[in-house]
This record gives sequence, structure tokens and C-alpha cells, in this order.
Amino acid sequence: MTSQTNSDEWFARALRVTPGGVNSPVRAFGGVGGTPRFMVRGEGPYLYDADGRRYVDLVCSWGPAIVGHAHPDVIAAVRDAAGNGLSFGTPSPGEVALAEEIVARVGPVERVRLVNSGTEATMSAVRLARGVTGRSKVVKFAGCYHGHVDALLASAGSGVATFGLPDTPGVTGASAADTIVLPYNDVTAVRAAFEEYGEDIACVITEAAAANMGVVPPLPGFNAALAQAAHDAGALLILDEVMTGFRVGPAGWWGLEGVTPDLFTFGKVMSGGLPAAAFGGRADVMDQLAPAGPVYQAGTLSGNPVAVAAGLAQLRLCTDEVYAHLDKTAETVAAMATAALTEAGVPHRLSTAANLFSIFFTETTVVDYATARTQDTAAYAAFFHAMLDAGVYLPPSAYEGWFVGAAHDDAALEQIANALPGAARAAAAHA
Ligand SMILES: *Cc1c(COP(=O)(O)O)cnc(C)c1O
Repeated sequence: MTSQTNSDEWFARALRVTPGGVNSPVRAFGGVGGTPRFMVRGEGPYLYDADGRRYVDLVCSWGPAIVGHAHPDVIAAVRDAAGNGLSFGTPSPGEVALAEEIVARVGPVERVRLVNSGTEATMSAVRLARGVTGRSKVVKFAGCYHGHVDALLASAGSGVATFGLPDTPGVTGASAADTIVLPYNDVTAVRAAFEEYGEDIACVITEAAAANMGVVPPLPGFNAALAQAAHDAGALLILDEVMTGFRVGPAGWWGLEGVTPDLFTFGKVMSGGLPAAAFGGRADVMDQLAPAGPVYQAGTLSGNPVAVAAGLAQLRLCTDEVYAHLDKTAETVAAMATAALTEAGVPHRLSTAANLFSIFFTETTVVDYATARTQDTAAYAAFFHAMLDAGVYLPPSAYEGWFVGAAHDDAALEQIANALPGAARAAAAHA
């Protein structure tokens, strides 16, 4: 019998009042087993749980905690903003400043509309694309996640993969009927879909680099081929940068690759850790939104003054030096992890998209959802728990990327290095 921890007690209480004990499925330990840790504090690269245990955090709130937890500048900006009131239901200057920062960073973005979550951003971008084109069909890729929007919750990667729900009840045939799901990185399938349905396709939506089935970068030319196919058919391309935006570089994946979509979606890093997200793009497309144009979209708390203050403070901290540190740290952690797994004889494949990476426990090169699913999730679960016991918090699912931050320093890396050999042996024992 193991003794009851505070996390166990909180989880038991949570289960009585919250479905599955969590407010977002990826937080549960469904993919790895065991009780989720209830965190009470974050500082720099560390999280502290309700039992006073410290973890090096390689989830970083699934991306937003890019400059470290509780960065003094972000916290000060939030305190200042909160002291002036939490929500006005009117325009406020902070919204303009955050939009200007995004426009300044991402060349093709001329207009930005702020929303409260990445889900809202993609939902609104798809509505806008349908409104502008007068067409109904949406092309998405298996394993890409765009939030829990009904029409986009078909073959949607991590959360759904973790829980083995191929299609979720509650999404009607009608709302999924206009969604065409294609294999990621398969240009031939894209061309065939446009040949068959071209006149009816409003948009293609793709993660700028897929990171919700584990990290699977677009093959060279894939995103460019999407832009070409969409534009040849009079459809729009939506580049979902909710995960990659302002994380993989100062101008996101677009800044690295340069394939220009009609619309972008952003979230996570630009929120500073509070509920904020955005979609943006060319003025002629974005100006079709109400009140400038006819496509309706709204939000009581959109552009919330506290959230935009956090987002702006965080973006201002995301300098070239920070991105250089992230690149180097990601490379170091990935190299240490693959070395430990190789040493222990665990089959694995490192997959990277700039400073985002994941390690697939498989011998197959991963290029899409089908190949991502060849991994040995039991071996990952054993690896995950050994890392957790050694004070390193990895994503509790084999279908997620690992996230580093600007606060991950030598001490944090040393703790990861010390944890890895034992975890690799644990994975080997379960492989
Ligand atoms: C996280 C994510 C979303 C959804 O954002 P939420 O804020 O969780 O609604 C959408 N797209 C991508 C690529 C994401 O990683």
C-alpha cells in the first residue's frame, strides 16, 4: 500500500465535482496511468506540487510558460493591470498594443482580432474563411489539433488519441460532414481532394508544424503546396500557429519557413499564461469581420485588459537571445534523452520542429498520424513515471511535444540528465 498524498486527496475530491477530475483531458494521466500531480506554484523552470515536491517542468503549461513561471515582469504587468479593474466591456489601450506587437512580428498579419482561447481563434478563422468564400468545406489533417471546435474535432491528435476516441460523440454528422480529413504531409491526397471538391472548399487549416500528435514537422514544400493548392482553387489557407507562434522564433513558424497563409491563429505564448488568443491576416480578409464587415464574431472578455497586459509583457521578453537559448536548450535535452535511450537499447525516433521536439518510442520514421501511432505507449508510460519520480515533469502522453523555456538553466538540465538513465532503463524493461 502506498500512502495517500495530497495530490491523491485533491484528485479524489476533484473526481466528485469535475468530470474525470480535470478541466482539460490532457492533464489527466489517462495515457500514462496514475494520479495527476496537483501543482500549487511555479517559479522559473520548476513546478511545485501539493506535497511540496519540485519538478523541472518540460510542459510549460503546454507552451505559454516560455520565459519561466512567475516571471517578475509578467507578474508586475498583471498586478498593475488588475489594480485598474478587470474588465471594462469597452476598447482599451492594451488590446491595441498587443495587436501592434503581433502585426510588427508577423509580416503578413495586417489586422488582429483577440479572442479567449485557441479554440475560439480557429473556430472564428474557419467561419471567416467560409463567410469570405461562400463555401462550406474545410480540409484538415489527421493528427492535427485545432482546439475542440466541432467541425475540426475529427482525427484530432493528442487528447483524442490518448483517450482512444476516434470520433467524439456530440459532434453531429452535419457539422463533421463538411470536414475533409487527409493524411499529414501527403501532397498527393491534397491535390486529389481539390480535384474532387475544389469548388466547395473554403479553406485548408493546418498546424504550421504539427505538434499535437507528438512533433511532426511539415516535409519540405508541404506547406507551400497547401498554399498553392488552396489559392489555385480560390480557397484560403489558415496556418494554425497557436502552438508554434512566438515559440519557435520571434515570428513563429512563418518566420522560419516563409509560407504565407491568408489567416493565422495564435494563442499559448501570446497569452502570457492568461486566457487570450488571436486570429489575424490580410486586411481585405479580416475586414470582413463585424463590425467592419458582415461575418459575426464577438466576446464579452475578448481583449481582456489583464490578459493582454500579461501577453504583451511576455512577448516583449521574447528576444532573439531567448530564442537562441530555447534552441540550444531543446537541442541539449533532446540529445541527452536520445543518448540515454540508445544506451538502454530503447527503440526511438527524435522528431523536431525548431525548439519543439518529441521522442517517439518506435523504429518507424514519423511523418503523419499513422506512423505516430506505431509508438510503444507502454514504454513511454514507464519512462514518464520514472522521470516524474526523479523530479522531471514530462507531458503525460506519448502524443505531445516537450517544451523548454528561457528559465531552464544548467541546474535544471543537470536534474534532467540525472533522471534520464534510470527512466531509459525503466522504458527498456517495458519495451
Ligand atoms: C492548443 C492548441 C489549440 C487550442 O487552443 P486552446 O487555447 O486550448 O483552445 C489550437 N491549435 C493548436 C495548434 C494548439 O496547439
